[in-house]
Amino acid sequence: MAKKEITVSALLAGGSYDADSRALIERAYHFAEEAHEGQKRFSGEPYFVHAFATGKTLAELGMDAETIAAGLLHDTLEDGVGKETAIEREFGANILFLVQGVTKLGKLKYQGVERHTESLRKLFLAMSKDIRVLIIKLADRMHNVETLEYVRPEKQRRIALETLEIYAPIANRLGVGKMRGALEDASFPYAYPEAYAETREILKQRGAIKRVQLEKAYRTLQKTLAAHGIVGFTGDFRTKHLYSLYRKLKRYDMNIEKIYDLAALRIIVPTVDDCYRVLGIVHNIWRPLPGRVKDYIAFPKPNGYQSLHTTVLTGDGAVIEIQIRTGTIHREAEYGIASHFAYKEGIVEKSGHAFNRKLAWVKQLSEWQKNINESGEFLENLRVDFFSDRVFVFTPEGDVVDLPEAATPVDFAYAIHSDIGAHASGAKVNGKFSSLDTALQNGDIVEIVTKKGSSPSQKWLGFAKTTLARKHIKNALSKKERGE
Ligand code: MN
Repeated sequence: MAKKEITVSALLAGGSYDADSRALIERAYHFAEEAHEGQKRFSGEPYFVHAFATGKTLAELGMDAETIAAGLLHDTLEDGVGKETAIEREFGANILFLVQGVTKLGKLKYQGVERHTESLRKLFLAMSKDIRVLIIKLADRMHNVETLEYVRPEKQRRIALETLEIYAPIANRLGVGKMRGALEDASFPYAYPEAYAETREILKQRGAIKRVQLEKAYRTLQKTLAAHGIVGFTGDFRTKHLYSLYRKLKRYDMNIEKIYDLAALRIIVPTVDDCYRVLGIVHNIWRPLPGRVKDYIAFPKPNGYQSLHTTVLTGDGAVIEIQIRTGTIHREAEYGIASHFAYKEGIVEKSGHAFNRKLAWVKQLSEWQKNINESGEFLENLRVDFFSDRVFVFTPEGDVVDLPEAATPVDFAYAIHSDIGAHASGAKVNGKFSSLDTALQNGDIVEIVTKKGSSPSQKWLGFAKTTLARKHIKNALSKKERGE
């Protein structure tokens, strides 16, 4: 690792902070430095390097001063006792709350898996009060996976897997694409060493060819867009992150020929209007592949991601993906929820539709965890209910319902209301009668047909996906058995 400068000014380079913010961060810096005095990381580096890296990541995300300060302080409660009062006195109740939220539970009371899941629960509870807890945790995890090479081998794999299964999906659901990619790519080699080597080889072989094709296409497009009077656009080539390439390869039997977005050409334009004009021009010069035109601007992904995507044949045998978006949309895709805390002339902006949509998910998660008792069940259900790939479907009134992949009308029914689930007798998907075990697709419009006499059957447990639906079905079945 390159030797990085560890100073307050290196921490704050690139941002603009007012005098109060600067002073606060500076005090947290020195407090943490002193608290970790004499402690070392596995790498042999001073422990403070970790606190610094966490704060630095938060500063780079553009987070506010309180969050950066809490990031610097995040491990000061870990081993010591009695620092709570000092932190509250020095930095106030907000920062103490953030630090406590990130702190793992004591080793004395909890052990092994239980300590782990209970710490996660605690994190989820704290984040429902202040989402910044979660962003600090992600920054903390970022440095931990970047320094995995120094960790004991058996621990390496556990941390890497946990990052892939819990923390990267959290970053994804918060729309912080930048962190998701970085967390995944740092963990991938330790979680699945062979798959990592194989994927890297594929990317090495195919990436260069793709790059040449994209550059050629961009030159053509530059001239055409200029001729159509579109100005102020920029082009950018993005290569798929290794881990997301691997996930996609797995879905296509490791056949690279079937993956068109190994690399993509990204066109960034000033307005949404320009996005659609550019799409029109692209389709006018190159033939699009049917079924690959995606309008995530009109229909954002559940995590708020927006962009226009299309895959075209450029006539010389190349098949390329083009992504079109505005600069604002692009920042949102990279920084997600963090962009709502962005430090702008001392004002922290915490509003807007996208922000509330993301917070709705956080509230659901913290409500949800209260109803899961078993530690083992907790992690498994967490994966399905929150971190699997998502589909979002609509009610006939146009309300969005966010469900895990392969969810069925039964899951949909219970997500709407427990009574609708309890009396579902059939479903209409996009206006057609469909069975209750149909796997729903993104964008489906779903209507549930209910009958007074209908009730859940044992069969439903064979296909219902969400914890919520399964819980209601089991309750209903056992009631039936008891003859109630
Ligand atoms: Mn830490």
